[in-house]
This record gives sequence, C-alpha cells and structure tokens, in this order.
Amino acid sequence: MNERILISGAGIAGLTLAHWLARHGMRPTVVERAAGLRSGGNGVDVRDDAVTVVERMGLMDRVRERAADVHGIKFVDAADRPVARIDLRDDASVEVMRGDLLALLREAAGDAEFLFGESVRALEQDDHGVTVAFEHSPARRFDLVIGADGMHSNLRRLAFGPEERFLRHKDHYFAFADADAGPGEDRWVTMFNTPGRMAGIYRSGNHPQAKAYFIFRSGRLDYDRGDVAAQKRLVAEAFAGQAWRPTAGLLERALADPEFYFDALGQVRMDSWSAGRVALAGDAAWCASPASGAGAELALVGAYRLAGELAAAGGDHRAAFARYEAAHRPLVDRKQQIGPNVRLMVPRTEGGRRLRDALARLPLLKAAGAIERRLRARTAEPLPDYRCAA
Ligand SMILES: Cc1cc2nc3c(=O)[nH]c(=O)nc-3n(C[C@H](O)[C@H](O)[C@H](O)COP(=O)(O)OP(=O)(O)OC[C@H]3O[C@@H](n4cnc5c(N)ncnc54)[C@H](O)[C@@H]3O)c2cc1C
Repeated sequence: MNERILISGAGIAGLTLAHWLARHGMRPTVVERAAGLRSGGNGVDVRDDAVTVVERMGLMDRVRERAADVHGIKFVDAADRPVARIDLRDDASVEVMRGDLLALLREAAGDAEFLFGESVRALEQDDHGVTVAFEHSPARRFDLVIGADGMHSNLRRLAFGPEERFLRHKDHYFAFADADAGPGEDRWVTMFNTPGRMAGIYRSGNHPQAKAYFIFRSGRLDYDRGDVAAQKRLVAEAFAGQAWRPTAGLLERALADPEFYFDALGQVRMDSWSAGRVALAGDAAWCASPASGAGAELALVGAYRLAGELAAAGGDHRAAFARYEAAHRPLVDRKQQIGPNVRLMVPRTEGGRRLRDALARLPLLKAAGAIERRLRARTAEPLPDYRCAA
C-alpha cells in the first residue's frame, strides 16, 4: 500500500503533505535539516484552490485571524513621497506571514514523525522500497520518498542529478530580514527603486515588526551559500549610497539579523517530478520564485494533490505520480510567468520606472487581475475532494 513515506523538508509543502498523508491513513516521517521550523520570511498568499485546501485542513479561520492585513504596494521617490500605489486586496486570497502559516501547518501535521537536525545522505531504490541513509541516524526503509526541501533540494540532487540541470537563474538576487517598524507606512509594502534595484519595507497591519526587502539585478554571482556574512556583503555593496533615506537604516538592521535570508531569484524547471519511488513537491519540483507571489499556493495545492492521488491510486505510486503531475503542472506553468512582476518591482532603467509609476497610477493592474481571475475560475480543473480515511 506504500504506507511508510519519508518527506524531506518541513516547509509549507512538506508539512501540508504530512498532514494529508496521515489523513489518508499513511505513515509520514518528516526529516528537516534545521534544528526547528525555519519560520522566517515575509507575507505569503493563500489564494484560490489553496484556500480550499487550508479550509479542508480546518485551518482557514485561524489563517484569517492571523492575516497580515497588507493593502498593497506603494512606490516612493527618494524624498519618501508616494508616487503610485497598487491596491492588491482581493477576495480570493489571504496574505499571512510565512512563519504564522508554518506554525499552523506544523500543528496540523501532528500525527507525523519528525526528525529535526537531520538530512538524507543517500538513497537506494529497488522494486519494493527505498533504503535511506541519514547524516546522523541509522539507515531506514521507506516505501516512497518525497523531496519537499526547497529550491536547492537535497533530494532532487540525490535522485535526479545536479542542481545546475534544473535551476534557472532569473537575473536577480533578493534578501529578506527584520526591520525597525519606524519607516514605511502601516499596511503597505513601501518600495524605492533605482535602476535594477529595489529596497522595500513590509509593514503588516497585524504585526509590530517590519521586514526589509531588497532585490537587485545581477548575472550569476560566485558566493558560498553557507557563508551568510559574504551574502550580507553582497547586499550591502548593491545598496551602498542609495538615495532613499530609510535604506541605510534598513541595511544596518538587516545586516545584524541572524535570520537574514538571501538567495538568487531562481526557477526550477523539470521534465518530470518523479523517478521511481521518489517524487518532488513544492519549490524542489517547480520553484516559481518569490516574484511569482505563488510559492505557498503552489506548495499547498501540489502537496494536497500528491497525497490525494497516492490515496486514490491505492498504492500504485506510478499512477499517482503521473496524475499528480498532470493535474498540477498547468498551474505551475502559469505561475512561472514572472516577467511582468519583476519588471514592475525592479525596472531596469529610469524610463522603465517612470512608465511603471504612470501605469501603477491607473486602475489598470487591478482590473487586469480581476479579469484574469474570472477567466481562470472558468478554465481551472476543479480540485478533487479525495476521500479521507480519517
Ligand atoms: C526561511 C525561509 C523564508 C522564506 N521567505 C519567503 C518570503 O518571504 N516570501 C516568499 O515568497 N517565499 C519565501 N520563502 C520560500 C517559500 O517558503 C516557498 O517558495 C514556498 O512556500 C514553497 O515551500 P516549500 O515547502 O517547497 O519550500 P521551503 O519553504 O523553502 O521549505 C523547504 C524546507 O526544506 C528544508 N531543507 C532544506 N534542505 C534540506 C535537507 N537537506 N534536508 C532536510 N530538510 C531540508 C528547509 O530548511 C526548509 O524548511 C522562504 C523560504 C524559507 C526557507
């Protein structure tokens, strides 16, 4: 029946999967490299089918209670005067701090076994299961193994090959960090641009603390992903001397933040999300990048479908993996079209910024979003209501 399932990664995809596998009567074990949940990050959107998934998990009321309550994006000039606003509120989505969502998902995955501070070292598949060697614990047998360990997935490397084959650099780097609540406007993400750069402040209406957000345009940079000090230096260099008054303070605070988060804006493109008894979910399989605004939505819906298809296929993992992929790929393909979002947030030139500001002052973007949502509602394949054992 493929009951014993190892999940690598306790992020949004891994925890959602653990909840649904347990609900369908399977026995998930979650292995997470960090010592506890990695609960950093800004607001993430729970939208459309992801709302249905979270409702079916019994969590949506609590997600709404914790909603970040952010109205949209405000672009400012060097003197901190607003030049344009885009109101992003819509009925189809709820924005919640990533850490708040993760805490709720962890609670909902309570029936799973968790191994924190641990990672998979090697995998060996045969016709009946997978032998998994861990970094610290003794080897164990599982029926199936799922990689939900993020954009730089360890499981993907072990089962599918090196990262360079799947990860595409999207010409930007980004950083998130804690910020002082002083600058920025309550309930708005304030953004300041110079060509190829964006410094911003995220101010939730529901949290006392603000978040700094930096993006800069760049080809591939050679740096050690384990060396946070080196990453901080890259961000400090990219934003040194930026004319916006709050930038210096934001940088200073961000560089002191131990949870400082830096990465390339990357996308994962794979021809197949499964290889034998191993499959991928979340950013490991299809990372669309934070510029998509869809990382949480894709992780929630994808994990729900994967668990449901495994249950529906009664143990036939080949059929389940194929159906999961066929059903979820159209949404992933659509969300990976991030070009307009990046041009909006980080115009390459002064002329591009002026055009962006002019467009943002018109109600066009909001209207386009509403039309897209209406068309999508008519064409989207409905989310199946898989029967649960519990
Ligand atoms: C700290 C953090 C902050 C983030 N902040 C934002 C944000 O502000 N905005 C945004 O849009 N997106 C953010 N993201 C990305 C966002 O969470 C994902 O795009 C999306 O939610 C998909 O989730 P995921 O579960 O696939 O991946 P992730 O959320 O990246 O979770 C992957 C998990 O796998 C774990 N892991 C990694 N390697 C191993 C290993 N070898 N063994 C075991 N476990 C491993 C990681 O520690 C992490 O807990 C952030 C991710 C992280 C980890």
